[in-house]
Amino acid sequence: MDSHPASTTSAEDALDTLSSVLDEIRSARSRSRAELVARTGLSRGVVAQRVSELIEIGLVVEGDVGPSTGGRPPRQLAFRADAGHVLVADLGATSIDVAVTDLDGRILGHRDEPADIAAGPERCLGRVDQLFTELASATRDLPGRLWGVGIGVPGPVDFRSGRPVSPPIMPGWDGYPVRERFATRHDAPVWVDNDVNLLALGEWRSGIAIGHDNVVVVKIGTGIGAGIISNGRMHRGAQGAAGDVGHIQVVDDVSIVCRCGNVGCLEALAGGSALARIGELAALDGRSDRLRVALDQHGRVTAEDVSRAASFGDAVAVGMLTDAGHRVGLTLASVVNFFNPSLIVVGGGVAQSGDQLLAAIRETVYRRSLPLATRELLVKRSSLGALAGVIGASSMVVEQLFSRDVMARWLRSGAPIPHETAVSAG
Ligand SMILES: [Zn+2]
Repeated sequence: MDSHPASTTSAEDALDTLSSVLDEIRSARSRSRAELVARTGLSRGVVAQRVSELIEIGLVVEGDVGPSTGGRPPRQLAFRADAGHVLVADLGATSIDVAVTDLDGRILGHRDEPADIAAGPERCLGRVDQLFTELASATRDLPGRLWGVGIGVPGPVDFRSGRPVSPPIMPGWDGYPVRERFATRHDAPVWVDNDVNLLALGEWRSGIAIGHDNVVVVKIGTGIGAGIISNGRMHRGAQGAAGDVGHIQVVDDVSIVCRCGNVGCLEALAGGSALARIGELAALDGRSDRLRVALDQHGRVTAEDVSRAASFGDAVAVGMLTDAGHRVGLTLASVVNFFNPSLIVVGGGVAQSGDQLLAAIRETVYRRSLPLATRELLVKRSSLGALAGVIGASSMVVEQLFSRDVMARWLRSGAPIPHETAVSAG
């Protein structure tokens, strides 16, 4: 916690310590009262009291006796992931993924199908409603009641209001009240976030970024964006726009026009749309036989075609991915010097296939960042695969439910309360 004003009450202190004790147990960093004392710096008395409260509320269970370190063997403490369940939907540009999870992000049921985000919010979210209903009735033994709903969308979101803000590939969604739509149908709080933040939260809670407190997760799909974990928290910035690295200007060339309206953006040179465009040119002017075949077969070249051609050794495609990787790496080197993460995770459709892009990013980041900042820096590929979106959406909901301010509102009633009466959490 940050420094407190002089007027801090003991009730607020109690909430702070409750929240940090729960976070320790939930992340499995501490498994006993002794470990909690050692890791949090709280007194034995305070730890004992907070643990009792969490057991009484039903969020923590006392399990088997753990390994003894000399004295009386300690009782193992565990988070009760089955205290409730969470419904999540990850909307991509061309797909809908829905899932029901426990409070640890474990997927209990899952559905996915093709969809067009440009069909607008009524159509897309109407389908999410239907899939939620199907999923809830088809999944056996759902734990507890519904504790939260999480929605991910492929564009910028004002996290406080749960509304998309001028999303470039989502016509009809600007300002649409996504949260309200689900809040009227479900007796649980609802949060909406962008796909990149969900990827970051998923990797941090359940993937390759576990244990890292300062992480940048870059998603290279159609566009490019980054999610930031700073000091063990998701950093969204003042309006939820943090991490939009795709629109950092990297060249001074008026012919490189970005979908955001500016010129010379990283995304306009190295994102999936850019790779598709450059790949199509290479197919048309006969520089790449493989891309020519892709063009003839489908009538267009996609970023996936470029990745596939590169994996077969197509020199033009390899060159394109290497060039894109260097450009992303240059921007990330600035981010590294500014933010000093211990881990960069690279994910998204374009980054998932082949090694050229990741290798070029890694090489450029190490070469162009300051030595102190790269001394212990790791650059790794995303680990969650196709389920990253729904796992991330579940992590996002649970992060919010157990954040200090949100928990303060529902703790006494024993289970989370819907958004009309809860704080619109930031
Ligand atoms: Zn741009």
